[in-house]
Amino acid sequence: EDTSTDIVIIGSGGAGLTAAIEATFEGAEVIVVEKNPFMGGNTNYATGGMNAAATKHQEAQGVEDSAELFYEDTMAGGHDKNDPELLKVFTEGSAASIDWLEDLGADLSKISRLGGQSVDRTHTTSDGGAVGAHLMSVFEKNLEKLDIDVRINTKAVEILAEENRVTGIVVETADGSQYTIHAKAVIIASGGFGASQEMVTKFNPAYAGFGTTNNPGATGDAIKMVEKLDAALVNPEYIQTHPTVVAGGNIMITEGTRGEGAILINREGKRFINELETRDTVSKAILEQEGETAFLVFDENVPERLAAVRKYSTNGVLIEADSLANLAEKIGVNSEELEKTITEYNGYFETQLDTAFERRVIAGQLEKAPFYAVEVAPAIHHTMGGLKINTSAQVINNSGDVVEGLFAAGEVTGGLHGDNRLGGNAVADIVIFGRVAGKTAAQSIQ
Ligand code: ADP
Repeated sequence: EDTSTDIVIIGSGGAGLTAAIEATFEGAEVIVVEKNPFMGGNTNYATGGMNAAATKHQEAQGVEDSAELFYEDTMAGGHDKNDPELLKVFTEGSAASIDWLEDLGADLSKISRLGGQSVDRTHTTSDGGAVGAHLMSVFEKNLEKLDIDVRINTKAVEILAEENRVTGIVVETADGSQYTIHAKAVIIASGGFGASQEMVTKFNPAYAGFGTTNNPGATGDAIKMVEKLDAALVNPEYIQTHPTVVAGGNIMITEGTRGEGAILINREGKRFINELETRDTVSKAILEQEGETAFLVFDENVPERLAAVRKYSTNGVLIEADSLANLAEKIGVNSEELEKTITEYNGYFETQLDTAFERRVIAGQLEKAPFYAVEVAPAIHHTMGGLKINTSAQVINNSGDVVEGLFAAGEVTGGLHGDNRLGGNAVADIVIFGRVAGKTAAQSIQ
């Protein structure tokens, strides 16, 4: 049945829910529509953490950091292709967004480091659990407390507009019936297009045939819906692969596994790259190995340091052995070579100097049984390109004008990450810009 509200939000991932909560705090009435039968989109899978600079946790743990340093690291990771203005809002708003989440009940007090960061600024839960699931549970509690209307099995199929101002959306429910939600503002938070082979191939044919880590809802619906509004797209060809996805499947092994000590070896049992290099570099290096896959190898210390890693052994994707020699045999690698590689690597821990690949952080030696291995290959992970927004999260059209009443946040937008997103920056993106979108949309209708 047709209805009306102040703000309608498309998508219930981290960006949509953050925007919904922030807009409600600003006094707006909100409806969130979600096409999947469950909330959370790709946010459900976020494992690594949330990058933020100059936070109270860093200070308490003696890590010196600044928004400027975070800016430089992110710009370097994105190869100077990041939108400087968006990046400034992002890096300067990061610490406040950690506080905002913790005020909602989140625990982000553990800090570690993912690829491309020059200090420890990846915030996760104190028990080392997956950050996405944690944040979703925090969001759900707050949605309930604030009595926010979230409609699952409800797909946005059209954005309504009169001239250059949006007036609502048309949605379709599971039984195929449609209705209109009239709204003063629309926030698009529908995620990326990493699950759409068709769109991936259209924007970048080099990725034809790649697997994906994305939820099936990540099909870029918004890109089609905004066509009639002439909304501008920023670099949809910038598509990121995650280097360590279980070969032949869609289970991603979190980057934190390498952060906490795992190495990558090829079929000769040799390391071939600084495992903490950025995702594009590590992905490329894996594809250059025989078989276009590699083995991620680690010991029992890694899940002990990072609890999120434990789930891979309980869900059966890891090959496990009580000694390195047995592990080598199980994965079909020469055991002397593997043992030599590990002895060398363990030596780098003592000197904290990797003379072979200049890996900067070696969290510990690989010495404690059981030892683990998993065959990995790159798969489509994140679409950096998307809708063009300004620093108020307003959608911009091809003439450079604001589309009135239309906002966007999260993976659906483009520009922030340049051509390569750093691990830990997606969660930061959805929270920081979800808040901006919720706030500015609510203020725009007052
Ligand atoms: P972000 O990280 O940017 O928040 P997510 O992938 O976590 O992105 O969440 C996006 C959500 O939007 C997913 O749950 C997805 O199913 C949902 N979604 C995508 N397209 C539509 C649509 N047309 N209508 C409603 N929900 C949508």
